Amino acid sequence: MGKITHFETHDIRFPTSLTGDGTDAMNTDCDYSSAYVTLYTDYGLEGHGMTFTIGRGTDIVCHAIAALAQRLIGHDPEEFFANMGKAWDWMSSDPQLRWIGPEKGVIHIALGAVNNAVWDMFARARKKPLWKLVADMSPEEVVKATAFRYITDVLTREEALAMLKAKESGKREREAHIKEVGYPAYITSAGWLAYPDEKVAHLTREAVSAGWTHFKMKVGASLENDLRRGKLIRSIIDDPECLPKDAPPRDPNHPSLRGKNAGPTGSVLMIDANQVWDVDQAVEYVKALKEIKPWFIEEPTAPDDILGHASIRSSLAPYGIGVATGEHAHNRMVFKQLFQAEAVDIAQIDACRLGGVSEVLGVLMMAAKFGVPVCPHAGGVGLCEHVIHLSLIDYILVSGSIERNVLEYADHLHEHFVYRCSINERGRYNVPGNEGEGYSTEMYKASIAEFEWPNGTYWTGRRAEEQK
Ligand SMILES: [Mg+2]
Repeated sequence: MGKITHFETHDIRFPTSLTGDGTDAMNTDCDYSSAYVTLYTDYGLEGHGMTFTIGRGTDIVCHAIAALAQRLIGHDPEEFFANMGKAWDWMSSDPQLRWIGPEKGVIHIALGAVNNAVWDMFARARKKPLWKLVADMSPEEVVKATAFRYITDVLTREEALAMLKAKESGKREREAHIKEVGYPAYITSAGWLAYPDEKVAHLTREAVSAGWTHFKMKVGASLENDLRRGKLIRSIIDDPECLPKDAPPRDPNHPSLRGKNAGPTGSVLMIDANQVWDVDQAVEYVKALKEIKPWFIEEPTAPDDILGHASIRSSLAPYGIGVATGEHAHNRMVFKQLFQAEAVDIAQIDACRLGGVSEVLGVLMMAAKFGVPVCPHAGGVGLCEHVIHLSLIDYILVSGSIERNVLEYADHLHEHFVYRCSINERGRYNVPGNEGEGYSTEMYKASIAEFEWPNGTYWTGRRAEEQK
């Protein structure tokens, strides 16, 4: 019998505010950061987990991670692995820490980091990438690993089991298919708000010629600028001359593009406001952008305003523009209500804002029940590495569909991860295949030593020099 012996947390900050990467109408000055934890055992097994933050406050999250991780010391990891749903209930229910949530804010994103670290450890113990660990579970085992508390009014364990069993027969075929073609993706890194038009045009051209078909731009700071920039992006993505040489012809009326406002080359544009508007303002602003034909508006208003999203969605429906949200939906109950209120066309789960894989599983199953496609939030640091696993789980054993799904990708900071994600020549995510990679969250020790705040070599050396 082994034991978890100790843990380390790291506050790791990358100076992305210097280049404008990650900028949008709300988050104008981000240093992409990771509140990172490693769990150690007395038999050599490790688990790495993190949550994504954007600079100041990462130290606060690390304190919360330490408070939660402390409870794991002395426990046999196999006890957790045998019933990850029960382990999740226990981890999220500390009789004192729960008060400072419950299940929201700093304590919940910290739970995400710790629960993700336990899942990473579980996958490493079984020598499988995380998605494969879950894909190889029986429906009964998946249900046992899921957080069901407070969602059984819309999804009981029995219903979840029946849903998973109904998808069992096609599982192996879907796994083989997705390994061959890769998971559909879209790119955000061309349209950050602080980029000048020339940079946006150049990056968009590059992305089109690399095979991308879905693009996202940030909006909400200036209608005039958004319209100009949206037209610029559309003029490139809709231009057949910009497509990759020898690309097979694309059909803008293909069923997978239905309702997405695809242009003549089959390219799709999405817009993201990062919560800047009030409800009525969101409707008016997005109506004024209808000329650039977005598929959906992402995060039009406050992430907790479920009925506000429902109202925006019904007001924009006549214009053929959908609503997406979820990267700041802090727990499964928010998703439950978004689905119940028919407030979203797309659910954008976040691997690190939800409290880890056990909670994500519950949201994936509710989304499948309500017929809402899941297109996870990614970008940041480490999020792309995480969410490919979650989308594979969704496709292989939960929804069984990739027809309308696209997984976010941003081309930043992957070089710091030991098992970095990658994109194939069709602009799709490759399937992680290394038996030692777990949840693909392990960061290089050298990266941690360089970017740890405030004493990493970057912050004490190069940055200090730059500021002189
Ligand atoms: Mg977003």
